[in-house]
Amino acid sequence: MTKFAYFEGSIRPIAEATISVMNQTFNYGTGCFGGIRGYWNEEQEQLYVFRITDHFRRFLASAKIILADFEHTPEDLAAITVDLLQREAWRQNCYIRPIAYKADNTIAVRLHDLHNEVAIFSMPLGEFQPAPGGVSTGTSSWRRVDDTAIPARGKLTGSYMNSSLIKSEAYLNGFDDAIVLNQDGHVSEGSAANLMMVRNGALITTPITSNVLEGITRRTVLQLARDEFDLSIDERVIDRTELYIADEAFFCGTGAQIKPISSVDHRTLGDGKPGPITTAIADLYFRIVYGKESGYSDWLTPVYAR
Ligand code: PMP
Repeated sequence: MTKFAYFEGSIRPIAEATISVMNQTFNYGTGCFGGIRGYWNEEQEQLYVFRITDHFRRFLASAKIILADFEHTPEDLAAITVDLLQREAWRQNCYIRPIAYKADNTIAVRLHDLHNEVAIFSMPLGEFQPAPGGVSTGTSSWRRVDDTAIPARGKLTGSYMNSSLIKSEAYLNGFDDAIVLNQDGHVSEGSAANLMMVRNGALITTPITSNVLEGITRRTVLQLARDEFDLSIDERVIDRTELYIADEAFFCGTGAQIKPISSVDHRTLGDGKPGPITTAIADLYFRIVYGKESGYSDWLTPVYAR
């Protein structure tokens, strides 16, 4: 059970971290947030937070989009988070949620001239969606929010109405998740994860100009594919039907981690099992996040003193 939150400038009991029903962001979705994972390494009795500074860098970039300028640096938000996690004393995997919001209680519809606050809380978290064999997907009838309407590159609270419509439609239609297209009919990403496919040994993903969140896991996977697996990388527009004939495909994200896709619109990918490239990337990713690969310790922040 979560005991604490960083709220209005200090760490305090979670019960004190409340906002009014009149809160502007509660009414209009004018906030932005982050999603960060902590991984518990039982052998080392250590909790490792993955790419915390990079997550806070993107968080502050999202805040800039919604006209919320903070004096915080990514480094001091990371330090506050470590302090918070030490007080929670998690000895299991956890999820960290920073959120920036307009703190005013007003019905004004705007982003400017409002008071911005940051809150941070954490909670225990295992798998979002336990599906070791891969997830079934269907192409959503909803289209991805466009940069000309609600920018997808930032993690903006209001844009998760789009993700929620997409996710519920997929679930109610019997799929585990969705493939989401842009207004022009090309692929963007999943409901809450970036998308990668493998064709003829190349790793292909949509560019950051395809209305996707600029994912930290996406960046991680591309670096590993290039440096460790010597794969050729193609960041380019993807057609819907390319996914039908892909050798492999997977979602990647902090929550999703590396999530193999077993089918798209009832077409089985490969033999329906996670493919060799997906499996190799996933294995390495999990070794890294749990602190079992010394070469990538720069990406990990240990929470407890050794
Ligand atoms: N796209 C969307 C829409 C998401 O919500 C997420 C999860 N944050 C991602 C992609 C993956 O981003 P990251 O790897 O930074 O978690």
